[in-house]
Amino acid sequence: MTDIVEYVRIKDPNEREFHQAVREFMESVSPVLEQNPEYRKAKIAERLIEPERVIMFRVPWIDDKGEIQVNRGFRIEMNSAIGPYKGGLRFHPSVNLGILKFLAFEQVFKNALTTLPMGGGKGGSDFDPKGKSDNEVMRFCQAFMAELFRHIGADTDIPAGDIGVGAREIGYLFGMYKKLRNEFTGVLTGKSLSWGGSLMRPEATGYGSVYFAAEMLGSQNQTLEGKVCLVSGSGNVAQFTAEKLIDLGAKVVTLSDSSGYIFDEAGIDREKLSFIKRLKNVRRGRISEYKEKYPESVYTPINPGSEFNPLWNHKADCAFPSATQNEINEKDAQNLVSNGVKVVCEGANMPTTLEGVHIFLNNNILYAPGKAANAGGVSVSGLEMTQNSMRLSWTHEEVDNRLRIIMKSIHKTCLDAAEQYGTPGNYVNGANIAGFLKVVNAMLDQGVV
Ligand code: NDP
Repeated sequence: MTDIVEYVRIKDPNEREFHQAVREFMESVSPVLEQNPEYRKAKIAERLIEPERVIMFRVPWIDDKGEIQVNRGFRIEMNSAIGPYKGGLRFHPSVNLGILKFLAFEQVFKNALTTLPMGGGKGGSDFDPKGKSDNEVMRFCQAFMAELFRHIGADTDIPAGDIGVGAREIGYLFGMYKKLRNEFTGVLTGKSLSWGGSLMRPEATGYGSVYFAAEMLGSQNQTLEGKVCLVSGSGNVAQFTAEKLIDLGAKVVTLSDSSGYIFDEAGIDREKLSFIKRLKNVRRGRISEYKEKYPESVYTPINPGSEFNPLWNHKADCAFPSATQNEINEKDAQNLVSNGVKVVCEGANMPTTLEGVHIFLNNNILYAPGKAANAGGVSVSGLEMTQNSMRLSWTHEEVDNRLRIIMKSIHKTCLDAAEQYGTPGNYVNGANIAGFLKVVNAMLDQGVV
């Protein structure tokens, strides 16, 4: 394990998040590599950490003042052993190669867990949609697709949304792809319903994460009813996590954005949640405005440089980090444990630092890593691809049932693999090992490519 982690660190010294993802993964799968010398001989670990292809490109576009802006575009095609590359696009100023490689690496094993035939990829840009007009976002998306279109396709690489890429951006990206290729195919997922999207895709990641938490609690004969829940973020994943938690009788007391968080002791009910949806999705406002509408709540700014995030320092039963990577550090994890939290279910990708993960595992928290807990999004993307190929649309119930079955199956797969490899109840090991075995066995079947 140390060899590979060291190798990655020396080879790509600036890719901090990628090192972190590889380290966490290798901690789980090293015993499997030890027990299977054929994996070592086939240089499986060395092949897994090297993307099959990395595409980096210039994205020049013109803003509303007529000035030329230049951003950087990326697509990481990480692994296609079990299907075409599949994974989201992120538009955020923090985007760089290291962040996208970590996301693509995680995506490979997440997709393997879904039971659907999808390889792993990820992409995006350091473009910031915040504060841009619709026309600027459209011009940027068109410029981005003017290069990306030659690398993707319904049977090759099928991007979707992620941070900063929602229905609006997917629409503009799809429009440009269609114009350039002169074909209408399922090349992107997360499309609007009237032109090839799937019912339940917007809800899928958040609902799936809550279904996973319900499964974990169910394994201990408990339910979510009456549980006090901390949720971070207020974007796609956070909104639908909160919605499903409310449906199941839990009490959601926090939501956040990158500026701060709101704490509403009485609980965020359906009416308050629809205010947040309008605020974030239509008006594109800030979470601080919740306090103006509901003065009994408390708004606290978050300082990214501070020792801990106060959002994670409230008495609660469950935590659903659903904003971004590394939003729970060691101190936050300790605070969650001290405040009585028993379930941590990751809607976001890698929201917990490695030190934080160790705290959860050492305190027997029911801890679901993102690659298992947030796999509902890509699963319904996979179902969107199936519907596009069949040229039909399933009902809401049909998609929701399939999502529930997939989340149940991922939960069982994780528990079985954890048990089989001597760490019962450890969902991190279970997810990493089960995803690893599926991908690696396919790679071995396909030879040295
Ligand atoms: P959105 O863009 O819809 O929302 C992101 C939310 O997180 C916003 O509230 C945003 O606040 C906040 N946020 C973003 N960056 C930071 C930061 N650096 N610090 C604090 N808060 C931040 O994205 P999604 O909801 O789609 O994605 C959230 C997470 O879930 C990501 O980790 C993503 O990779 C993961 N995920 C998403 C899936 C999906 O289907 N969408 C599928 C699987 C995982 P602000 O508005 O201030 O930026």
